[in-house]
Amino acid sequence: MGRKKGPLPLFREVKILDAGSEGKAVARVEDRVVFVPFAAPGDIVDVQVYRKKRSYYEGKLVRIHKESDLRVIPECAHFGLCGGCKWQHLAYETQLHYKQKQVKDAIERIAKVPYGAFLPIIKSEKQYFYRNKLEYTFSNRRWLTSLDAPKEEGGPDEMNGLGFHLPGMFDKILDIEHCYLQRDPSNDIRLAIKEYALNHQMSFYNVRNWEGLLRNIIIRTSRNGNLMVIVIFKEESDKNSGLLEFLGDRFPEITSLMYVINDKKNDTINDLEVKLFKGDPYIIEEMVTPGKSNKNLKFKIGPTSFYQTNPEQAQKLYEIAYNFAGFKGGELVYDLYTGAGTIASFVAPSVKKVIGVEYVEEAVNDARENMQLNGITNVDFYAGDLAKVLDEEFIKANGKPDIIITDPPRAGMHDKVVRQILNAEPDKIVYVSCNPATQARDIAILHEKYELLKIQPVDMFPQTHHVENVVLMKKR
Ligand code: SAH
Repeated sequence: MGRKKGPLPLFREVKILDAGSEGKAVARVEDRVVFVPFAAPGDIVDVQVYRKKRSYYEGKLVRIHKESDLRVIPECAHFGLCGGCKWQHLAYETQLHYKQKQVKDAIERIAKVPYGAFLPIIKSEKQYFYRNKLEYTFSNRRWLTSLDAPKEEGGPDEMNGLGFHLPGMFDKILDIEHCYLQRDPSNDIRLAIKEYALNHQMSFYNVRNWEGLLRNIIIRTSRNGNLMVIVIFKEESDKNSGLLEFLGDRFPEITSLMYVINDKKNDTINDLEVKLFKGDPYIIEEMVTPGKSNKNLKFKIGPTSFYQTNPEQAQKLYEIAYNFAGFKGGELVYDLYTGAGTIASFVAPSVKKVIGVEYVEEAVNDARENMQLNGITNVDFYAGDLAKVLDEEFIKANGKPDIIITDPPRAGMHDKVVRQILNAEPDKIVYVSCNPATQARDIAILHEKYELLKIQPVDMFPQTHHVENVVLMKKR
């Protein structure tokens, strides 16, 4: 770290200027940017710097002198500590304003290319309880908060908790009472598991010495009411089936009850066997394709399958991509970073053929299975890293695409992928992104041959700074 000598400064009465990216509000002191989580534009605050870099400081809000008019009272008692919903202190309309601005800033400051229609952000109908997947972590060293009474007053006499990681602290878990992100009975299930575990002396995991029986739970829901619960244990134990049986009896609405034994040091279960305890091995999500096809698609979602986490907004996002593409019926479409092939199957009924590429092998297997389930036959999938797969030979073998739809992860597209898209010369590029900054970087390169016609931000994640953005580029 850049820390040299002396204590880091406390800045008094600084004005917060912007909501910033990464969910941190922004101030400016001595020509340097200061990032301050949980502050609001317009606040006058004291900021204790805890990290000093060449061009910016990172600070903690320690006192509010004047509250911004933009502030509202956060819904959730965990606001200020939990890393989940950092913008709850801003009204929803204000959040949308700053998301729109985030996209505009990226296009104007990073892409720096002329653009056509900049459309107003599409809001989410649901501002809470919109997520279809949450993962909670057990810890025997939970974080004590100001909400916890001191021990002498009957406060916590044990340190077991079940909740979310605190931002930036791998070993600290914030015990969650009520989370506003996933619909019922998500909270009831988590609380019931915790209570059962405490009553039955099941030990909570300790990440420092890798001991403790209970590690994680994952809860997945779908819009048609399917409900999947996965309990992750460190090891086989007589107690495990007791907890699973209790869950099955107490929550008959669980349609897939599963468990995993994970004695690795990390939490990922993608490389482990997920065992079915009761019910189905997957849940079903549905989507309706637009246009004449108007097909009801079904997607099987297994315990480790990827699916967009706000399904209502995913439908809207795909509709925008679909409309931007403006299919006439005979097109060859490439769907890059296809995941489980959801965009591919969304557009397949309206075009001649779709080629999907994705590097997670299981996702490609899901994609193929979903095509079968939906009777879609005009899609081919390839598993592999796009930077390697997408080359001249690939384009020769599969045909020059008329339209490319691309939906990369936060890092954006590898430079090689951008170059190959320029080589492939589709008429249109529809670029779906969860990170306007990397998208803008890629747009700047694509601008060599393509003009930026339309920009449509979409809010998939209310109460957070995250924004999704779809753009349409057309060959000159
Ligand atoms: N379009 C899909 C998934 C988008 S998420 C949907 O809407 O559901 C981005 C996807 O890109 C993930 O599935 C991820 O596994 C995949 N991915 C990331 N890097 C990749 C790479 N280098 N090559 C191919 N796929 C990649």
